[in-house]
Amino acid sequence: MIYDIIIIGGGASGFFSGISIKDRLPNSSVLILEKTNKLLSKVKVSGGGRCNVTHDCLESNKLLENYPRGKEELESIFRQFGVKETIEWFKNKGVKLKIESDGRMFPESNNSQTIIDCFLVESKKLKIDIEMGVTITSINKEKEIFSLQTIDNQYFSKCVVVATGGSNKMDGYAFLQPLGITILDPIPSLFTFNDKNLFFKHLAGVSVPNAKVEIHNADFCFSGPLLITHWGFSGPAILKLSAFAAKHLFDKKYTFKIKICWNCTLNSDDYSLELERFKIKNPKKNIYSNPLFDIPKRLWEQLCQISGIEPIRNWSEIGNKKSNALLKNLLQSEFEISGKTTFKEEFVTCGGIEMSQLNTNTLQHKTIKKLFFCGEILNIDGITGGFNFQSAWSTAWVVSQSV
Ligand SMILES: Cc1cc2nc3c(=O)[nH]c(=O)nc-3n(C[C@H](O)[C@H](O)[C@H](O)COP(=O)(O)OP(=O)(O)OC[C@H]3O[C@@H](n4cnc5c(N)ncnc54)[C@H](O)[C@@H]3O)c2cc1C
Repeated sequence: MIYDIIIIGGGASGFFSGISIKDRLPNSSVLILEKTNKLLSKVKVSGGGRCNVTHDCLESNKLLENYPRGKEELESIFRQFGVKETIEWFKNKGVKLKIESDGRMFPESNNSQTIIDCFLVESKKLKIDIEMGVTITSINKEKEIFSLQTIDNQYFSKCVVVATGGSNKMDGYAFLQPLGITILDPIPSLFTFNDKNLFFKHLAGVSVPNAKVEIHNADFCFSGPLLITHWGFSGPAILKLSAFAAKHLFDKKYTFKIKICWNCTLNSDDYSLELERFKIKNPKKNIYSNPLFDIPKRLWEQLCQISGIEPIRNWSEIGNKKSNALLKNLLQSEFEISGKTTFKEEFVTCGGIEMSQLNTNTLQHKTIKKLFFCGEILNIDGITGGFNFQSAWSTAWVVSQSV
């Protein structure tokens, strides 16, 4: 049999494109091929089992800020199908989404199974064929027909949608080799930093809401919440840095220096003014017991200690040298980073299909007609917060309108 459309990959973007294609072309024959024996396995574990479907960010410009790679291409894609359309799409399929205080959006059920059930019910209703345990090993095109090879079988189709997701190894893209598709080296994005010296290890669990983290000798600096862990540093400021500096840090073999400002809410001059004011007003107060600038007590004590201030000292008992040292450690603590750790098993791939090969309005290959790509296989990735699924839905929808 020759299918009208074969979708390779039974994940988020594969199902979203399949359902949207059949909504538009109900009489077309659509087959989804999945290599494992599980469908939508990443959706299942995503967002801690709750599936962070998207982010409450209706303004296109602001939304684009969350994509270290693919910003330019996503501009026209989001114009066609953005967050608003995603919320409506799920609502029309019977899934209501809710917004959390930080903007992340989840199904009201708080359960990723709701999204999976929605996709499976819709696929059945729309008569989409699905086969599992089928790994495509190569694709060829002859006389307008694609042939998809597995180890012991062959599938034929007039149109192919590649939705095989990210992979940290080139092997994951090998099946595209016969078509001569250019793949940008895949490397990891979204990870936490390992502190080489572990000087702050005993503070694991301490977090600050407004840190600023900067990579030494590079133009990467982000602010936001930061968490001290047993192995180093995590939290939104670190994850954002890991995503935007993914390539730079890979090239550095994950050995680099960072500077942390533990509170970045004031102008730099205001910290010393504030500290002086406090010293004058509270000369008899113990320094260790009276943290300033909303710094958690345990972290404040550590900053005092590394600044050479003894636990018994009052503010009147330290001179400018020590208060300057404290300010320096507060605003510019330096750490040597050696290695990375996966964040809650959540990671995405930086790299993949080089976007200049595709028409960005349709996501069709420029020279191999009827070959489309969507989801994380593209050289598009976002930070945590629902942005990766949003690009999966948006690119899948664009493909569904283009086939
Ligand atoms: C633990 C974890 C949690 C996450 N949580 C979130 C979250 O809450 N919000 C968010 O926005 N993003 C999250 N992400 C990222 C998000 O899951 C991915 O960006 C998204 O799943 C990408 O969708 P996709 O369809 O492109 O790829 P996938 O969902 O990975 O699906 C690709 C499918 O293709 C199959 N496949 C691969 N190669 C072949 C082949 N040769 N033949 C046949 N089939 C093949 C794979 O087995 C897979 O099932 C998370 C990622 C992880 C790892």
